[in-house]
Amino acid sequence: MSSHVHIVLPWVVRRTRLPLVSVRCPDCRSGSATTGDGRFRVNANGKLLDVWLLVRCVSCNRTIKLTVHDRAPVRSFDPAALRGYRVNDPGLVASTLLDPRLAQRNRCALDWDGSWRLDAASPWIDEGWPVQIGVAFADPVLVRPERLIAQGLGLSRSQVLRRIKCETPLRRPTSTGFTFTVIP
Ligand SMILES: [Zn+2]
Repeated sequence: MSSHVHIVLPWVVRRTRLPLVSVRCPDCRSGSATTGDGRFRVNANGKLLDVWLLVRCVSCNRTIKLTVHDRAPVRSFDPAALRGYRVNDPGLVASTLLDPRLAQRNRCALDWDGSWRLDAASPWIDEGWPVQIGVAFADPVLVRPERLIAQGLGLSRSQVLRRIKCETPLRRPTSTGFTFTVIP
């Protein structure tokens, strides 16, 4: 019976560092910036605050400001967050960068290339039976399933398309767990 699934393997995707930011540098037209050590800039204007996350162009080092808060009333801020902005708290840098609202507000995107790893529980063994693999995301890494599966199984992308059965679209980047079956 070809639909019989022989084993189930768990895979986990983890973040290894902060992703780069895909944003156009006004000076050198490069499209990539890094948070580096992570810095905020806070500007008070009466009772209103502007907060930016500062990133640096990877080509020319120019600082690019990404808006986090735009003229927000001081009293609307959690005091712990306000302190975090002022001391460049690394946890707050990470959560600010990974919050989808930052990319929406600044019309940029996160570039996850080289910023994640795949923990595959056991080596891939082709025993002539379909194998089911469940992928979980420990961090909100955005990756194309096709690419993740190719890396995990050591297959080319065309082999992936031929040998994988999966309900999740293989070419659309996701950070939501999914399951797929490998046909021998
Ligand atoms: Zn630049």
